[in-house]
Amino acid sequence: MFTAIYSPLQQLNYFSEYQILVKRDDLIDPYISGNKWRKLKYILAAAEVQQRTHLVTFGGAYSNHIVATAAACARAGLKSTAFVRGDATECAGNEMLMLCRLFGMELIFTDRLSYKNKSLLFDTYFADDKNALFVDEGGAGTEALKGCAEIIAELPADTDHIFCAAGTGTTAAGLLNGIYRAGLKTRLHVVPVLKGGDFIADEIARYTGHTDQLILHTTYHFGGYAKTRPELIDFIKKFTRSEGMLIDPVYTGKMFYAINDLLKNNYFDPSDKIIALHTGGLLGLLGMKEKF
Ligand SMILES: *Cc1c(COP(=O)(O)O)cnc(C)c1O
Repeated sequence: MFTAIYSPLQQLNYFSEYQILVKRDDLIDPYISGNKWRKLKYILAAAEVQQRTHLVTFGGAYSNHIVATAAACARAGLKSTAFVRGDATECAGNEMLMLCRLFGMELIFTDRLSYKNKSLLFDTYFADDKNALFVDEGGAGTEALKGCAEIIAELPADTDHIFCAAGTGTTAAGLLNGIYRAGLKTRLHVVPVLKGGDFIADEIARYTGHTDQLILHTTYHFGGYAKTRPELIDFIKKFTRSEGMLIDPVYTGKMFYAINDLLKNNYFDPSDKIIALHTGGLLGLLGMKEKF
């Protein structure tokens, strides 16, 4: 299932004076979306090597990662379970959890306090299950880094700037690893979607050792994770209408807003080659229906 992928580079019309390409990882799969596909690729390979037939993971009620895990496991013929932060009544009617169930995933609703200790949760339920493989929240880990680093080999080597949205920073760390390993001059621009995103630099440095080609743009969080403001929503509406490409308010909307803002402030040279990584996550729109 992970042999050939469809993730073209597409020219954007929205920013007419600049050459901006989008790496359409959102097109890899509608449910195993974008960077979650990249992260799961080597997790599934590890599961196969270790002969584990059951992936156990963690996520919030609108986690792109748990839907991706559910879909990937169904396709690979594996069992899947997710510990979901929140209670079942609160999550009734949640479209993403409905998809998880359809893909055969078992959901265990977990209160916020217990959710904090993931290894204890795993051990409590699955210590005796030799088939169970612990997969961290968001798919974070060395396999994820490896999968995300591969994106770099699919991009032109003379790219000046690559942009990505960041939650935990795992995807960004993988990309930066890929850049360093290929010996490229490309700079990686990271747009944290949470408030206080400076921690991401430390997180990335833990994996890559150095961060001289990393640029963090920490002022585009719009109040924090899954928070929005009218100007973000307006931008998403305008962008989607004129480009015919969906972006979401949690991740890629904030990244494209940042690119738009930096362009307006003449941050780049018009000859710069810029690539924005569309990390997918479009089901996140379903968690914010009322905003559109
Ligand atoms: C999960 C997700 C991210 C964040 O990835 P990290 O590796 O945690 O930084 C970015 N974009 C989308 C669309 C996502 O679903």
